[in-house]
Amino acid sequence: MARKLAKQDSQIDVVDWLRGLPKAELHLHLEGTIKPETLVELSRRHDPEPLTLEGARALYQYENFLGFLMSFKAVTERLRRPEDYELITYNMIRELATQGVVHAEVYVSFGIIYYWKKTEVEPYVEAIERGRERGEKDFNTSVLWIVDAVRHFGVDEGARVFRKAAELKEKYPSIVGIGIGGDEARGPADHFRDLYKEAKAAGLRLTAHAGESVGPESVWSAINIGAERIGHALAAQHDPDLMEVLARKQIPLEINVTSNVRTGCCNGFKEHPVRQYFDSGLMVTLNSDDPPMFGSDLLGEYVLAQDQFGFTMEQMRELAANAVEASFLDPARKLALLQQVEQYG
Ligand SMILES: [Zn+2]
Repeated sequence: MARKLAKQDSQIDVVDWLRGLPKAELHLHLEGTIKPETLVELSRRHDPEPLTLEGARALYQYENFLGFLMSFKAVTERLRRPEDYELITYNMIRELATQGVVHAEVYVSFGIIYYWKKTEVEPYVEAIERGRERGEKDFNTSVLWIVDAVRHFGVDEGARVFRKAAELKEKYPSIVGIGIGGDEARGPADHFRDLYKEAKAAGLRLTAHAGESVGPESVWSAINIGAERIGHALAAQHDPDLMEVLARKQIPLEINVTSNVRTGCCNGFKEHPVRQYFDSGLMVTLNSDDPPMFGSDLLGEYVLAQDQFGFTMEQMRELAANAVEASFLDPARKLALLQQVEQYG
């Protein structure tokens, strides 16, 4: 693809340029987009003694991966009613637009709704759709949903989640895919093989978190059950054969650098393989995962990549184009966004 540089890198403000670069976010959890300010608003709705802003911020502190999962739970427990989901969806889109995000594919956890709330999901889907429609109209950022099962809740829970996704997709076309998240060690991808086959037959696109907190075998399993995009794939760096397959098949990787460092899955920015993956010809996309819990956002991930890993501006443009190409958008919108990325000054 022809690349165009309007100005020398040194003459422009890098952060402003990266903000204006049309970006797509492919790995973002709706329940992980709640900023402390929104959590205070939710707490006022539900807690007898509402959280202060400091108290809300404290809930985002943790020491390791399990601590992170516990923090995530503490936040999601304050999501009680469908209106809460509408609020967080609208606020998420507003926040994305300020970073120059033109499209997002967002994980919504039916698993959490079923398992912790023990209730039907459709009123929640109606609510996120209301938030999405208002947000898209007000901020011009498109959103598609990927329905996420919590893998360590087991295959039966997964079946319930994916079958409901297939059913609701007919009524809500913005539901485009499925994924598995949670604790990889307690929920190997292999267990979900038949369910992935069934979801694919129902027209759902397939993603899977893999190689985040366990080894490369988890990424192999995700590929073997048909995952079209891999979330994290941090462990692929330890397996040259896997690296070769990822490069040859151009399987998009949803990389989340800050998340990996903050959860302790990666020891530090210097040790993160994002640059190695890119240089080895892997299909890298940059994403933010659960941004307020990691003190980052997608723009922050782009700034970090440029700053810490020495990607040039043209490589940043390539990363932005990768995310659009790897999205589940219809061909017309995908092409329009790719042109926007290419023509961006
Ligand atoms: Zn994730």
